[in-house]
Amino acid sequence: MNNVVKILNSDLRFPVNNIYCIGKNYSEHIKELGGKEIPELPVIFLKPNSSLNSNNSDIRIPVYKDNLISNELHYETEIVILISKDGENIPEENSNEFIFGYGIGFDLTLRDVQSIAKTKGLPWATAKGFKGSAPISDIIKKEDFPASKNLSIEMFKNGELKQKADSSEMIFSIEKIISYISCIFGLSKGDLIFTGTPSGVGQINSNDFLSANLSGKVSLNLKVK
Ligand code: ZN
Repeated sequence: MNNVVKILNSDLRFPVNNIYCIGKNYSEHIKELGGKEIPELPVIFLKPNSSLNSNNSDIRIPVYKDNLISNELHYETEIVILISKDGENIPEENSNEFIFGYGIGFDLTLRDVQSIAKTKGLPWATAKGFKGSAPISDIIKKEDFPASKNLSIEMFKNGELKQKADSSEMIFSIEKIISYISCIFGLSKGDLIFTGTPSGVGQINSNDFLSANLSGKVSLNLKVK
């Protein structure tokens, strides 16, 4: 079965349910894509289960009738939350109870396809949800992070630091995001939430190698085919 995440230092495989993603959650990233407005509520989109991809895997741009469907594959590096149990209308102050653990993921994006969709007011599913577009690291149990510390991410492209941020820079906190999604969609055990990218996104091409880590505790590697 493909649609599972691994738990660090454990034989446990956790089945994945829905994959939610937050757009526009770091102000510097909104600016780098030419946006001006800070959203009033979280911007949510989904990736299908078939987008799930594991550590040390490959990614390629999909081909349709002998043509690549994009010429602009981008990485976005994001803190990912794994949900431990079902819940609806969760108050922010209770949201921590619903977190199983944390990982780091790439929200791979066909930026040219997304730009056309934005211009025409069309959905982002092709740009964001193509097969393998959601690689994710092993999950670290919540108990293995000091509750007082922020989660931090670093991402290196071919050995060069490209993205660095921590969870205190988010516009909508992890608590707010969990509460909001639970009110709108209801949360289920095994849901993953990609919490949005900081600035520093960029294009990747064949043979590029990405390596990211979450607070230096768990890493995610990806090769572009
Ligand atoms: Zn993203």
